[in-house]
Amino acid sequence: MKGLYNEKEAKAVVAQYPKVPPELALRVYTSRLLGADPSLVLHGGGNTSVKLREGNILGEMREILFIKGSGIDLAAIEPSGFVGLELEPLRKLRDLDSIRDEEMENQLQVHKISFRAPFPSVEVLLHAFLPYRFIDHTHAEAILILTSQPDGADILKEVLGAKAAFLPYCRPGLALAKAGLREYGRNPEMEALVVAGHGIFTFGEEARTAYERMVALVAKAEGFIRRKTRGRKVGPGRRKVSARRKDASFFARLTQMIRGAAAVRTKEGGLRRFYTEVRSTPELIRASAVREAGDLCSSGVLTPDHAIRTKNKWAFIERVEEDEASLKEVIRKVVQEYREDSDRAFAAQAQTRGFSWNKRDSNPRVFLVAGVGLITLGFTRQEARIAADIAERTAAAKILARTLGKYEPISEDHVFEMEYWGPQQRKLDLETPPPLQGQVAVVTGAGGAIGLGIADRLLAAGAAVALSDIAEKSLEKVYSRLAEKYGEDRLEKIPLDVTRYESVEEAFAEISRRLGGIDILVPNAGIAHVAKVENLDSKKFKQVIDVNLIGTFHSIKACVPIFRRQGTGGNIVVVSSKNVFDPGASFGAYSASKAGAHQIAKIAALELADLGVRVNLVNPDAVFGDNEVPSKLWELVGPERMKSRGLDPEGLKEYYRQKNLLKVRVTAEHVGNAVVFFASELTPTTGATLPIDGGIPAAFPR
Ligand SMILES: [Zn+2]
Repeated sequence: MKGLYNEKEAKAVVAQYPKVPPELALRVYTSRLLGADPSLVLHGGGNTSVKLREGNILGEMREILFIKGSGIDLAAIEPSGFVGLELEPLRKLRDLDSIRDEEMENQLQVHKISFRAPFPSVEVLLHAFLPYRFIDHTHAEAILILTSQPDGADILKEVLGAKAAFLPYCRPGLALAKAGLREYGRNPEMEALVVAGHGIFTFGEEARTAYERMVALVAKAEGFIRRKTRGRKVGPGRRKVSARRKDASFFARLTQMIRGAAAVRTKEGGLRRFYTEVRSTPELIRASAVREAGDLCSSGVLTPDHAIRTKNKWAFIERVEEDEASLKEVIRKVVQEYREDSDRAFAAQAQTRGFSWNKRDSNPRVFLVAGVGLITLGFTRQEARIAADIAERTAAAKILARTLGKYEPISEDHVFEMEYWGPQQRKLDLETPPPLQGQVAVVTGAGGAIGLGIADRLLAAGAAVALSDIAEKSLEKVYSRLAEKYGEDRLEKIPLDVTRYESVEEAFAEISRRLGGIDILVPNAGIAHVAKVENLDSKKFKQVIDVNLIGTFHSIKACVPIFRRQGTGGNIVVVSSKNVFDPGASFGAYSASKAGAHQIAKIAALELADLGVRVNLVNPDAVFGDNEVPSKLWELVGPERMKSRGLDPEGLKEYYRQKNLLKVRVTAEHVGNAVVFFASELTPTTGATLPIDGGIPAAFPR
């Protein structure tokens, strides 16, 4: 590891925040340097602080501790990511023997200097008790690899030298802070403090000193590991795993089955589903194939901070069976055993500790799959990605620790205590999730007006949405518009041609590889052709049939094996048309093909109910879209109708508004709301048609 402190860059950060004290700006600068190195901290791990003198509203000077807010990412931290606390009252807490979690939380809230500031990092008391101006704290892998060795304390003393103190594992809080203070009392020259199984703190009067001490000590640890493992074989031995071709459909089968097996039944009887993240680097494939791969899964986290992201233990899938039914059974068993172990462990902890914490779901977050790598789970995509990032680095670090000697994890007790510790739980998003969170929706024909409206409403309801269309330009336009509104995290775009079954199959496999599977299918791709029957060209008619009828059939058919593998039901909402009940002259190709699709959907409702899959239909009418993403149907038929009625574009919209009973303009979002209604399963409904047309008596479903 190399130091990256650069005077010019440091000055630039100070200049960038003229209203912020220069020390705090430098604190921001070196915090970002630490955060940018994944071997030091990952996703909100680690923390930093600086002590400053500031006047209050009365002009009284006092010492303020600025410490990173809990869970905030060091790599992208801003001055506002630091919370200021009055130092003196916090320091006085060192005279206490113990403090209850609730009172601790109260103390940290009441001594903040701004009520808007975030909640401070969980290691705040150690930062407060030690007198150094700048304190840097990371979970450096090299240090953790050394503390995991049976003789870790001796190695560290030898490698880091006399100015680094060493403490056995202790949960962050009053006890750890007091232990740190005692070390300082013994050795006021102390420049660093290592806490076994947790990480390292470095100190300095300047931002640069504390940072450079971190770099120097971690580099020493890395150098030691390099010297000792040079020439040694990495990993203790290989097992044979099949080297099958791994295309999207291979991964898709795994992710669909894993997320299906892990879905959580809620108290209300619904299901909470997971997104998955696949990591299949050569290193991970190798890690999954070492003889002790099972041990890699059961030996626990590098530092307890990771437990809320990855759980302490991983699940191991030893064989990826060729045959689908056997693979599904293997996965079901692995998940079931993991759940049982995890329930037992929780019950035992609850009994000995006598607490009433809320139990987290008993599912694994990380699966190590032999010959494949990692598949991780998260209720949000962000959670799945964080778990994957941490697990990927953990696998490498543990293999290195084994190559060096022996990997001795932190005790399960300690990890459990940390996982369920109140301030740690704060890092998880415990708010009531939006109704479709965890679900994956696919909208075909997403490049058009109705597709955009449907995707918009599904995103607003919390689903991840895969937009698909054959027209890549329109797809791109809709994608960027939605990305601007909702961010890219829950959005995917994938070109597909609904008229070719293989194209649909491939696209659905790719969506599953990226997101985990499919729960909501919205066949919406459609085209129109205007001609009276006597002039209707057979070829043109077939084209319309191909997209509107065969395309809907392909989409439904390709989804069935996915629903089967997941075993968690699902929803298909077909975008039909008012024309099915109330057709119009010259619109034969469109109306007949839509009527066919309508019928296929009803048949699917009969056939898929056994799988818990509901198939419903929405019948929109007169949805024009907007200037940026207009309705393709109306672009086609609009000009003719305007001409025959002598209307301009606004006039045409007004004409259709006046035509319905409620006298409303029907929007694409209205159609989207109907899709969300069906997908939310608020009523036990399948095979139904919901008109979205403002009320057209001739099109009432019957
Ligand atoms: Zn820490």
